Amino acid sequence: MYDKLIYELSKPARIAYSLPKSEVKEYKIDKDLTRSTSLDLASVSELDVVRHYTKLSLKNFGVDQGFYPLGSCTMKYNPKINEEIANLPNFKNIHPLQSEDSSQGLMQIYYETSKMLAEITGMAEFSFNPFAGAHGELTGLMIMKQYHLNRGDTKRTKVIVPDSAHGTNPASSALCGFEVVQVASKANGTVDIEALKPLLDDTVAGIMMTNPNTVGIFESEILEIAKLMRENGSLLYYDGANLNAILGVAKPALMGFDIMHINLHKTFSTPHGGGGPGSGAVGVKASLVDLLPNPRIKLENGKYHFVSTSPLRVSGFYGNANVVIKAWCYILSLGKENIASVAKYAVLNANYIKESLKDYYKLPIANICKHEVVFDGLISEKATTLDVAKRLLDYGYHPPTIYFPLLFHQALMIEPTENESKETLDEFIECLIKIAKEAEENPEILHNAPHTTIVKRLDDVLAARRPILTYKDYLQNKDTF
Ligand SMILES: *Cc1c(COP(=O)(O)O)cnc(C)c1O
Repeated sequence: MYDKLIYELSKPARIAYSLPKSEVKEYKIDKDLTRSTSLDLASVSELDVVRHYTKLSLKNFGVDQGFYPLGSCTMKYNPKINEEIANLPNFKNIHPLQSEDSSQGLMQIYYETSKMLAEITGMAEFSFNPFAGAHGELTGLMIMKQYHLNRGDTKRTKVIVPDSAHGTNPASSALCGFEVVQVASKANGTVDIEALKPLLDDTVAGIMMTNPNTVGIFESEILEIAKLMRENGSLLYYDGANLNAILGVAKPALMGFDIMHINLHKTFSTPHGGGGPGSGAVGVKASLVDLLPNPRIKLENGKYHFVSTSPLRVSGFYGNANVVIKAWCYILSLGKENIASVAKYAVLNANYIKESLKDYYKLPIANICKHEVVFDGLISEKATTLDVAKRLLDYGYHPPTIYFPLLFHQALMIEPTENESKETLDEFIECLIKIAKEAEENPEILHNAPHTTIVKRLDDVLAARRPILTYKDYLQNKDTF
């Protein structure tokens, strides 16, 4: 069933390289520093190695192969040209310990990207020091904490987080030393103001929200929420990982938010996944800029300088420069005129899918959605959301996000993004309708899916309890496959 593993191709003395004899005198390493047994590596020819890894790579699924409608943490549009630009030698080879004088170009890019994001969001300034969205959240919450401490207000130990929030929100709050207080959502998916009011007192440091929220619904009462928080002396934190839904159309600062992060690696042209590199750029209103983590970049007399104004520092140097360069390229290539079309097409595409599938999949929230739509499983209930997701693999699609958000038991969260053609969306819709019909006529085919992939339905529990992660584990468990 499996292709041979690299160790199974191994033949003694077969090697994939040949080097000329060294002209340098051999250096003897101390005996106590060398291995006592030789390294157990596969001996294979160059062709075997190349073919083996090429075959493996083809078994992966990526956005270059097909539609990837993963809700919430989606793969958005990542133009290849921006990778090329970020890879130019003068960018790639710059060293963080270089002088300000020899780093002016990159400092200008940081400065200008901050200015453009400030224009997009209404914030005053951005820091690119955090390496990920969750890191940005932690940084923003540290700023929130410092703001209250600077005012001598030490009682504010709680952060309010809606029950629809991304898991990183309560996690970052807890990591920053806050007590997390959950606020319930209403049936339409938005924060319940009546449930929020009784939570507000002088121990609340702030609220963390995303808008549109993780159900893809715009919090239409945000101005009322902001007013309540402000009257309570609390700050509002905006999780901007969903910014593509409102890009160029609405500004978080005008909704009343004080601090925010943006996932440059979701919305601004860096692929998300595989653990990085990312950038959780943190932006704040003017009154908080001096708390942005050190170092900040200032422009004086035509020259960029690093300045330190804050008690906070969140990374060794200046974050992931290549991600900032790609964001700068992306924003400039769209321009002020076109940036809003990202949001408009993302929202249009999500609503097109919502309306096309609502006779087959339960739609718990029928309002206009933003960039993503959440169904609550098949109307027929003949198969689960997991079955539908596994069956999609047979048809060559990456499944949408499933069982998140937790508000619905059979959540199926689809985010089509802005760049997919109508034909791609139509084929995907047709496929999901076909699967709904299969569930009616022959549900077994769904229960046992996938059928065409190399690995069939996994036993999730066994995979977690007895993971097979090495070749030796594999050899010992070979018969169970
Ligand atoms: C992805 C995401 C995050 C976390 O970002 P990471 O870079 O994965 O740490 C936070 N909030 C929301 C809504 C997200 O989609």
